[in-house]
Amino acid sequence: MTPEFSLIAQYFHRDKDVKTKGLIVPNGDDGAVIESLPDSSTVVAIDTLVAGRHFFHDANPSDIGHKALAVNLSDLAAMGATPRYALLALTLPNADSFWLSEFSAGFYALADKFAVNLIGGDTTQGPLTVTVTVLGDVPNGGALTRSGAMPGDSIYVTGEIGTAGLALQVLQGNVNLSDDELALLSPNLHRPEPRISMGVALRDIASSCIDISDGLAADLGHILERSEVGTDIELDCLPLHKLVRQQVVETGRWHLPLSSGDDYELCFTVPTAKASALADCLSGLRPGSPVPFTRIGTVTDKVGVLRCLQADGSSIPIIANGYDHFE
Ligand code: ADP
Ligand code: MG
Repeated sequence: MTPEFSLIAQYFHRDKDVKTKGLIVPNGDDGAVIESLPDSSTVVAIDTLVAGRHFFHDANPSDIGHKALAVNLSDLAAMGATPRYALLALTLPNADSFWLSEFSAGFYALADKFAVNLIGGDTTQGPLTVTVTVLGDVPNGGALTRSGAMPGDSIYVTGEIGTAGLALQVLQGNVNLSDDELALLSPNLHRPEPRISMGVALRDIASSCIDISDGLAADLGHILERSEVGTDIELDCLPLHKLVRQQVVETGRWHLPLSSGDDYELCFTVPTAKASALADCLSGLRPGSPVPFTRIGTVTDKVGVLRCLQADGSSIPIIANGYDHFE
């Protein structure tokens, strides 16, 4: 076998792969063959991670494998899809066996957790870049989108926001925290947990949904735009890690929780009539994996206006631009 094929065989083909109903021809042929399932639609998403841009060149390869898949599964979660398949396009400066085995272990550990089958990919030489495509299923007509929010709906987020952003600020030397404190934050940056069970549970409940990859303000801004609504966020309600809250108190700035990226939490809206269904939906999630979620505000009819309200009712100016690669 040539080095390229033995590398692929060693790290990205497995004899005992996840059994996926409807997978007719698995990884290893010119293409994978998937049978269309009755009554369901396929959701497809793709994301690229570039070394030096999305992760440090010397980042833990297992974390990179995890995150490359996690950010894609997060997109499926935001659509309410059940993940099924992934494709992996890997550009490597060299065939470093330690790097590859760690990367592959990180990728497969998360894939196995969500029964995702790696059905193909491409391997090339060049600057380190990881592109993953994922496919998932939703019942026909059941996908969540950014466009269904209505005035009066409540706005929620899962987990906490700004935690990954603070970890990045510390790693970049912009904020000083102890190593112990950094260790509390860094899993959110390096190993985000895609909110799959929550996305699936929200299919019949949420009026709109997005995953927070570029910061709450920017991503909620996409819901505003697509749903042609406005939103009032109550700053006191934002779910923050105590170290993030401490930064907000010390600096007086809300930039960290509102505008830093990499949270991969879900932000979604729910009509008042579905509020009790939302409360019940947690009990339907996989045992042992309850997902915390918090009400942070209300959808308004002020099209395009995102207001961030303090306890006294005054609003703070907020720049809703998330990270922009071409800015
Ligand atoms: P082709 O030349 O027909 O495009 P390749 O030589 O690129 O095929 O790949 C051989 C097989 O290995 C294909 O089934 C492809 O999907 C799979 N493959 C290649 N690279 C990867 C990767 N990084 N991860 C998973 N599967 C891969
Ligand atoms: Mg071919």
